[in-house]
Amino acid sequence: MVVGDVTTGTDVLVVGAGPAGYVAAIRAGQLDLDVTLVEKDAYGGTCLNYGCIPSKALITATDVAHEAAAAEEMGIHADPAIDLAGMMDWKDGVVDQLTSGVEKLCKANQVNLLEGTARFADENTVRVSHSGEGQGSESLEFEHAIIATGSRPIQIPNFEFGDEPVLDSKQALALESVPDSLVVVGAGYIGMELASVFAKLGTDVTVIEMLDSILPGYDDDLKRPVKQRATNLGIDFELGYTASDWNDLEDGDEIRVVAEPAEQVTADGGSAEAVEDERLELDTEKVLVAVGRQPVSDTLDLVEAGVETDDSGFIQTDSRACTNIDHIFAVGDVAGEPMLAHKGSAEGQVAAEVIAGEPAALDHQAMPAVVFTDPEIATVGMTESEAEEAGFETVTGQFPFRASGRALTTGDSDGFVKIVADDGDGYVLGASIVGPEASELIAELGLAIELGATLEDVASTVHTHPTLSEAVMEAAENALGHAIHTLNR
Ligand SMILES: Cc1cc2nc3c(=O)[nH]c(=O)nc-3n(C[C@H](O)[C@H](O)[C@H](O)COP(=O)(O)OP(=O)(O)OC[C@H]3O[C@@H](n4cnc5c(N)ncnc54)[C@H](O)[C@@H]3O)c2cc1C
Repeated sequence: MVVGDVTTGTDVLVVGAGPAGYVAAIRAGQLDLDVTLVEKDAYGGTCLNYGCIPSKALITATDVAHEAAAAEEMGIHADPAIDLAGMMDWKDGVVDQLTSGVEKLCKANQVNLLEGTARFADENTVRVSHSGEGQGSESLEFEHAIIATGSRPIQIPNFEFGDEPVLDSKQALALESVPDSLVVVGAGYIGMELASVFAKLGTDVTVIEMLDSILPGYDDDLKRPVKQRATNLGIDFELGYTASDWNDLEDGDEIRVVAEPAEQVTADGGSAEAVEDERLELDTEKVLVAVGRQPVSDTLDLVEAGVETDDSGFIQTDSRACTNIDHIFAVGDVAGEPMLAHKGSAEGQVAAEVIAGEPAALDHQAMPAVVFTDPEIATVGMTESEAEEAGFETVTGQFPFRASGRALTTGDSDGFVKIVADDGDGYVLGASIVGPEASELIAELGLAIELGATLEDVASTVHTHPTLSEAVMEAAENALGHAIHTLNR
């Protein structure tokens, strides 16, 4: 480890080893560039350590327990006992396997790994401070930099993270005991995914959301089965409320969370005219705040490098992932919405290729997104109304999973596949799926959009029987007016 004021140099400096940064570093290594990847915490970033992977591991584990308990219709009588410590050990093992894999892949691609926190000193230099006693700091000169510092959860007034019993998503994914009750503030995808995990662990869950519906941005017909199943799990929804404060209760382990009708809360979080009898008071053991995430761009001294951000702190980039400074790039959550791991990785690859002199650019037609609720929601491309707003004459086709033989054999047949296409030439413009394995099924439709495939192409591709993927083919046939296993309108 270098201590003190020694200055070293690199062709490509990557700050942050999440899915945007480590992918950029590996791709740059493959292209024979001299790369240094600086990470202050853990390889794999939010996604592998505190986000996508641990949340999906716990969703799967709690699903297994829930499905076993609910399989009486199949002749299975089970009463699973959950050992939370064992479940968390398994989840941590998955995370460790993946993060050590990232470290090995970086090394195998000749990426220099540097542990520490980077801050810009000027437009060609960062200072990297190493954590731990006597570790000091060093200066690193670079030809090109890729900023991939990710995002952090947004705090709301009066709910400080780290102030037990207020949890952020990272803490909620590492609890040592199952809380009896949990209030989740925010019904976005992170709040909804974790609400289901805890409901399946047996926690009494209430979701508070300031808007009048869950999962803002998704069509009502996609959200309906999710809300229904969440309600069946015993999750309560308090829509149109904003959590404003909490206080300890005299005895017991519970706290009282106070929420005001959303329209009475002012911009700074204060209560304009709290009308007492409209106020909500919820007694709970823990409260999880999941109201959104913000870019980590304020701790980098960006001003020293001349890199600009927008008003929300996102670094603005062009189609080559380049910032307003020619040789500095930004990728992943810090470079804007959608804050999704695969979007960051795609940007990371482009940034590395542009630096290597390749004619790369972000030119994908559609960005898929998945909500891993029960059932899952997956979307890609345009919705029907977005396509119409963009000037297309649209045709749509739909296929319900209750008409799918495979879905019925899994015992999970809520939901449907919907395809939106151009009515004239049949090009697939978008798709949405709610139901079993929506997260896997959406990939075929993403490929269809990227390749410029038509409804006819999807419908005439022979799909294996019995599979859920047949629903994709049938939805395309339905749009063409000749689905076999559902009525054509
Ligand atoms: C609970 C949860 C569930 C999620 N589930 C999904 C999902 O299912 N699918 C999906 O696509 N996305 C999901 N996400 C979002 C996903 O985690 C992010 O989109 C993704 O991690 C962004 O990648 P990134 O590389 O831009 O940033 P990050 O993964 O946040 O990585 C940034 C890294 O930079 C490091 N860093 C920051 N500043 C410095 C500095 N100055 N010096 C050195 N290092 C620094 C940080 O320590 C961090 O490791 C989820 C997020 C959460 C919180």
